[in-house]
Amino acid sequence: MRHAQKRSQRALSSVPAGDEALVESLAAAAVLYNAQVKNWDVIVIGGGIIGLSLSIELRKRGATVLVVERGEPGREASHAAGGMLVDWPLETPAALQQLATASARMYPEFAHELEVESDVKVDLREQGTILLLSPKHIRHPGLGAAALSPADWGDLEPAMAKLTLDQEFDLKQNGLDPEEIAMARGAMHPASFYLKERSVDPRALTAAALKTAKRRGVDISSGDEVTAVNVSDGRVAGVTTTKTSFHAPRVVNCAGAWSGQIAPHAFPTRPVKGQMLCLASPSHNLLKHVIRSPEVYLIPRSDGRILVGATVEEAGFDKRTDVETIQRLRRAAVSLVPELRNAKILEDWAGLRPGTPDALPILGATATPGYYAATGHFRDGILLAPITSQVMAEVMTETGCKHDLKPFSPARFSRNQAA
Ligand SMILES: Cc1cc2nc3c(=O)[nH]c(=O)nc-3n(C[C@H](O)[C@H](O)[C@H](O)COP(=O)(O)OP(=O)(O)OC[C@H]3O[C@@H](n4cnc5c(N)ncnc54)[C@H](O)[C@@H]3O)c2cc1C
Repeated sequence: MRHAQKRSQRALSSVPAGDEALVESLAAAAVLYNAQVKNWDVIVIGGGIIGLSLSIELRKRGATVLVVERGEPGREASHAAGGMLVDWPLETPAALQQLATASARMYPEFAHELEVESDVKVDLREQGTILLLSPKHIRHPGLGAAALSPADWGDLEPAMAKLTLDQEFDLKQNGLDPEEIAMARGAMHPASFYLKERSVDPRALTAAALKTAKRRGVDISSGDEVTAVNVSDGRVAGVTTTKTSFHAPRVVNCAGAWSGQIAPHAFPTRPVKGQMLCLASPSHNLLKHVIRSPEVYLIPRSDGRILVGATVEEAGFDKRTDVETIQRLRRAAVSLVPELRNAKILEDWAGLRPGTPDALPILGATATPGYYAATGHFRDGILLAPITSQVMAEVMTETGCKHDLKPFSPARFSRNQAA
C-alpha cells in the first residue's frame, strides 16, 4: 500500500511544469487512492469560507480533515460577497448579536494569521462605514453617538459632498450660491452616521484560507459532489459522492445554499440571490469608507476597485445577472458619488446566499451522532467565519463552547426533518 502511495507522489512530482490538468487528475487519483486506505477524523462538505476556515481550526486541534467540494473551493457565495463586516444592532438579528460582535473582534487576528500562513493579502480595511439611513430608522437609541453632521461627512468623504450635474442644475435654478449648495447637499442625507466597521476582500480571504488549509495538511477533493451522508449502526460513517465514498466518524455540512439537498437531513436552507458589480475608481483614493444607503452600498478596495451591491432576490438557483438591475445599482452609486459617473464597469456577477426561514445560521450537532451542520449564514458568512470555525471546532471536539448555540440548533426547524 505504501509503495502505491509513494508511486502516486512520485508521479505528481515528475509532471512537467504547466501541465495543470494532468497534475489535477493525478491529485484526484491520489485522493481516490487514499479513500480506499485512509479514514479521516472529519469530513467537511463544501469548500466555501465556512468549510475552509473550519477545516483549518479542526486541523489546528490535531484532527485529520478532508474537504469534499462539488466544484472548485471558494467559487460560490464566498466568491460573490462584498465583505462588509457588519455587527451593528440595527442590521444584525438580535439573536445573532453576540456571535456577530465576537466574530468582528476576532477579525484582525483571523485575517493576519491567514495572510502570514498563505502569503495572500486579504485587504482588511479599518476605515469604517458612512451609513445613510431612511428617516424611519433614525430614532434607534444606539444611533446618537454615531450621528454625523453634513459638514462631518463632507470632510470624511469629500467625493460624496459633490453634486451630480442634475442636482447642481436644480439648485442653481433656485438661485443658491456655492455655500448654500453645499449645505443643501448635506441636507439630502440628514440621517448619516459613522460606524467603526471593517471590510475584507472575500475572494482573497477564501484564497488565503484554501492555501492555509492545504499547507496545514487538510486534504481537498474538488469536483466531487456529496450525494449522501452515510449512517451505519445509528451513527455517521462517512459520505457518498458522485465518484466514490469517504470514511470518517464525523461529518459537517458546510454546503451553503445547497446544504438541504444532502440526505439524510433536509436542512431548510434556500438560495437568496445577490447581484453586484465592480467599478474602476476614476482616481485612486476617491473613497475611503464603505458607504451604505437604503438603495445601495459601495465598498472600496485598496487597489482602487469599488464594489457596488447588492440585490436580495428569491430566484432559486439562478446566478445570472440582468443588465437593468446592474444599471440601476450603478445609477444609485452615481447618485451618492457623482465622480463615478464615467467609471468603467469591470465585472458584474450574482451569488447565492444561504438563507434560512428565521435568517439565523444553523450551527451544531444533528440528531444523528457524528453529523453536524455549519450553514445558513445568509448575509453574514464572511463576518461569521472566525466565530463559526471556533464554536464548531469546540462542539465537534467536545472541548466546551462558551457561547449559547441553542438559537442556531438544527433541531429548531423540525425534530423529524433537520435534527
Ligand atoms: C452578493 C452577496 C454579497 C454578500 N455580502 C456579504 C458581506 O458583505 N458580508 C458578509 O459577511 N457576507 C456577505 N455575503 C454572504 C456570504 O457570502 C455567505 O454567507 C458566505 O459566503 C457563506 O459561506 P459558505 O461557505 O457557507 O457558502 P459557499 O461559499 O456558497 O460555499 C458552499 C460550498 O459548498 C459546495 N457544495 C454545495 N453542495 C455540495 C455537495 N453536495 N457536495 C460538495 N460540495 C458542495 C459549493 O460548491 C460551495 O463551494 C454576501 C453574499 C452575496 C451573494
